[in-house]
Amino acid sequence: MTVDNILAELNRRPGTGETIPIINPVTEETITEFADGGAAAVDDAVARARASFDSGTWSAMPGNERAKIMWRIADLIDQNADELAALDSLNTGMNYDQARSIMGTSAEVFRYYGGWCTKLNGIAHDVQQTGGITGAYSNMHAYTLKEPYGVVGLIFPWNGPVFNAAAKIGPALAAGCSMIAKPAEETPLSAILLERILAEAGVPDGVVNMVTGYGHTAGKALTEHPDVEKIAFTGSTEVGKQILRAASGNLKRVMLELGGKSPVLIYDDADLETAVTMAAMGIFIHSGQGCICGSRIFVQRGVYEQVVEGISMVANGVRLGGPDEEGTLIGPLISEKQMHRVMGFVDEGRRNGVDIVTGGERLERRGYFVAPTVVTDVSPDMSLYQQEIFGPVVAVMPFDDDDEVVALANNSDYGLAATAWTKDIGRAHRLAKRLQAGTVTLNCQMVFDHSMPFGGYKQSGWGHEWGRDGVESYLQTKTVYAQL
Ligand code: NAD
Repeated sequence: MTVDNILAELNRRPGTGETIPIINPVTEETITEFADGGAAAVDDAVARARASFDSGTWSAMPGNERAKIMWRIADLIDQNADELAALDSLNTGMNYDQARSIMGTSAEVFRYYGGWCTKLNGIAHDVQQTGGITGAYSNMHAYTLKEPYGVVGLIFPWNGPVFNAAAKIGPALAAGCSMIAKPAEETPLSAILLERILAEAGVPDGVVNMVTGYGHTAGKALTEHPDVEKIAFTGSTEVGKQILRAASGNLKRVMLELGGKSPVLIYDDADLETAVTMAAMGIFIHSGQGCICGSRIFVQRGVYEQVVEGISMVANGVRLGGPDEEGTLIGPLISEKQMHRVMGFVDEGRRNGVDIVTGGERLERRGYFVAPTVVTDVSPDMSLYQQEIFGPVVAVMPFDDDDEVVALANNSDYGLAATAWTKDIGRAHRLAKRLQAGTVTLNCQMVFDHSMPFGGYKQSGWGHEWGRDGVESYLQTKTVYAQL
């Protein structure tokens, strides 16, 4: 499928009449406009999902058959990886090689969850003696069944369109659910191709239903829908709270993967060259638009100046530009709105007297580019310290000892990820226990693997994705007692 075909197919989708522009963040030009699916498209998709779930075409398919289809999805993602990467890169402005490498990971997600299709068993237990309301029982056999929730709604952000979709569609399919998937309004392009791939791989009709549209229309209708059993959402903490409220009507189960303000601790005994490079790339890559980006860096005082200088050198050295521009590593922010939001935080910091060591400006060119920015003299009461910026802006602050840095790092409503760089292995593991984060990385950064659970502490989320926990998120447990 060519890009033109994708655009034509997107334009053919029915909608409410309101149009949504897709803007190329590198050129600021409109790529196309499409109709917001709105509540009508959601109603239709939920009805299709319900019919497919109740029919058992997917939910009752033997696990080994489901697994084969999931591996076919993975193979087709590999075969279409160039095109998928081109679409994500056009849509987000992301470096093509980075987008391309994520396609391999996305395919692996389907292979990994394909493996779970044949392993979704409960437990069995012989209950010797138990009290029932009508009397005592003995010699009981009890077991649990793991059953798919049914119809689930999946809502993704724009920062890694195919990968974000795979993260939810993969485990939901493995569990046997039928689903409505809503990509972000900014990035629907690769979802159209993914929809084709799912059908070509043999996912039965009505099992995965893509709805394109705004969050406040289609997304809201999905979270409020009385015939949807669960919502799995990745996005901002603010919208996560709205989703909780909207889902309360029928007490939907809710899984939330939300924002972060992840701390990075650099000790004076660390391999400084590696720590500086990784800490810098851990915030500047993808222009800081990653949920686990390390946006607060705490440096032990003895090496503080050296680290600030090192990170600033990386900031000044990386080349920003669009996917078609030779030698560029980092793309733009997703939208004009996001660029103004990021600059708003920087300007507020400037007014409050922070020191902008480097960056702090929009690039003088077309596109929503903000220079990698390093700020110091930031205090815990400032928004630069507390708020998720989702841009290439990092606050670097000094500390003296473990207790101080743990308190500073944990001074946040968020708790998504945390990193420590130190050669003292005992200290590293003690820090891992004390840091309030769903993922802690020691002497490495921006690491996660689809075989290990991922989720947020505090206001960074509810529940887990990835690993066994990921598929369990789409299953409910039934307990059965039988008198022998
Ligand atoms: P967002 O919350 O604005 O939107 C995310 C999705 O929710 C979009 O599809 C949007 O259309 C939809 N939405 C918006 N309002 C809605 C509503 N009222 N009801 C239902 N759906 C609604 O987030 P974004 O700007 O697209 O993405 C950036 C955010 O995502 C950041 O906060 C980032 O940290 C977070 N994120 C988290 C993870 C994670 O795994 N924890 C991963 C990636 C991104």
